[in-house]
Amino acid sequence: MAKIVIVESPAKARTIERYLGEGFKVLPSMGHVRDLPADELGVELERDFEPHLIVTKQKVVRQLKAAVRAAEQVYLATDNDREGEAIAYDLYEVLDHKSRAKYGRVVFNEITREVIRRAIAQPGEIDLQKVEAQRARRILDRLVGYQVSPLLSVTLASNRFAGLSAGRVQSVALRLICDRELEIDRFVPQEYWTIEAQLGNGAVFQARLVKIKDEKPEISSQAEAELVRTELEALASSGGFIVEKLGEQEVKQSPPPPFITSTLQQVASSRLRFAPRRTMKLAQQLYEGIALAEGQEGLITYMRTDSLRVSPEAQKRLRALIKSEYGPEYLVAKARVYRNKKAAQDAHEAIRPTAPERLPLQLQVELQRDQYKLYQLIWQRFSATQMAQARYLKREVQVRAGDYLFEASGSRLLFDGFLKVWSMKPRADEGIEIPELEQGQRLKLINILPEQHFTEPSKRFSEAGLIKTLEQKGIGRPSTYAGIVATIQERGYVEKLKGSLRPTLLGFITADFLKAFFPQTVQIDFTAQLEEELDQISEGQRTRLEVLQGFYGPFQQRLETAEQNLKRSGDRPFRVLSDVACPECGVPMEVRFWKGSRFLGCSRYPECKSTVDLPQGVPFHYLERQLIVGEHLA
Ligand SMILES: [Zn+2]
Repeated sequence: MAKIVIVESPAKARTIERYLGEGFKVLPSMGHVRDLPADELGVELERDFEPHLIVTKQKVVRQLKAAVRAAEQVYLATDNDREGEAIAYDLYEVLDHKSRAKYGRVVFNEITREVIRRAIAQPGEIDLQKVEAQRARRILDRLVGYQVSPLLSVTLASNRFAGLSAGRVQSVALRLICDRELEIDRFVPQEYWTIEAQLGNGAVFQARLVKIKDEKPEISSQAEAELVRTELEALASSGGFIVEKLGEQEVKQSPPPPFITSTLQQVASSRLRFAPRRTMKLAQQLYEGIALAEGQEGLITYMRTDSLRVSPEAQKRLRALIKSEYGPEYLVAKARVYRNKKAAQDAHEAIRPTAPERLPLQLQVELQRDQYKLYQLIWQRFSATQMAQARYLKREVQVRAGDYLFEASGSRLLFDGFLKVWSMKPRADEGIEIPELEQGQRLKLINILPEQHFTEPSKRFSEAGLIKTLEQKGIGRPSTYAGIVATIQERGYVEKLKGSLRPTLLGFITADFLKAFFPQTVQIDFTAQLEEELDQISEGQRTRLEVLQGFYGPFQQRLETAEQNLKRSGDRPFRVLSDVACPECGVPMEVRFWKGSRFLGCSRYPECKSTVDLPQGVPFHYLERQLIVGEHLA
């Protein structure tokens, strides 16, 4: 009788089957096998939010049932996080009710021969707390998605089937992007000037004005800048520019920590231009196993993680590799150990190569181009963590002329250390040469260089920047960042413009609608708190029911208020008026949406049925529930 191992995907199944060999059969579940029904809420509000889970993959389940019936042992080897745990539990529930004793749960963070064999030798129990946390998350998302979306559709399209939808965590991300856009819109640039002086006798260098009478200089117009110039020129001919202070010191730079999901997505986005979802897809391929000449091999550890921990074995192997590959001077003397914010026991690991000895170049032919690029990035980042610091020699000088203090610095790389494998943004003063000077030395003023600047507003979020902010604010988790960023674009709330995210008109209006009727769904603190409570369910500190009840009480009140408001005839509680007058009757027209399109309709609808096109790409301004677009519509 065979031993059966069940995993999520065919690729993962192939890799593991090769490692286990004779007597084992590894089968894929093709992801979740149970879920809430798509065509109804599927949650019993009156009965403790009991979910109606239905089998979504009948055929797969039938095949697995047949295989399991004849098996002597069944190992549930789905991913080591709350989604994976829920899949394992669903399989256990759905497949076989007679002989549950033969089921075991196995977890691991990497797919290698040794790790898989060790895990199979010590099967454990399903972690029901994690399953509960997954259920709570699924139910929360369903309650918000299925109960708010029809109201949104009714409001903006007068039809509950208009296809508009509001997601729980996506809504907060949308709000962040809308707030940023309004901030940019309202920003008033301030003029300011900087002043640099070219100084020297022989060797010339440039120093920047940093203080006037011991205060930070505030020069806000050309007239003021010219006044400073005149004074400096006068000082140059009387007392002169004198070297007041000289300094030379070694500056050290340490490598960044190994990748976790959020940093992998950020760096892959900025360095490789991969969208987060693409990064995760490629990472999953590397994790589940790639067909190499030596056979199918898992190349990196599990890609959904917020842990910085590195197994002692992996660390030891990396240190040996660095010593042999780059020489002992490149190995950091004392091993760097990374710790997590949460001190709790941590079974997860950072994202790293399963075998650091497998150099990227050795895999270049066998990996697809983007798989290779991502593997290389992960390998480099991990390798840097046990390499020596980079060292710079930094030379600084302060020069005084009366009340004016100037400063200059330049640095030179002494030893590259980890920079050999992991590049960093160059230092601002790197490569600048400060000539040999002496304290008290008098310098010749060669030129004054005033320069005009304007303060700039915050930048729009990039995908990488949005993930960074979500993580900092405690919104989303390693399993959800990529989905959030993709969903807000797929639903047409946000568009990517030269790499940065900008709300669409639909995005603005949706965020405003949610703010008006469901303020909590767009509150950052509230959403972060809820994510924290889901974590607490996994840790056994809270129950699913407590968390759902805590959420649903206030939410239900909001829901009822919104429904009553929106049903009232006559004056509608939420409408977005434009500066375009109805061609028939002259009253302002309002914004409407219908299945992916948008237009302006007379606000006297249904008495006046006049409409005006609102083509995509028309420039517009959006203020609170007000669209300014008139001059751009022919
Ligand atoms: Zn009209």
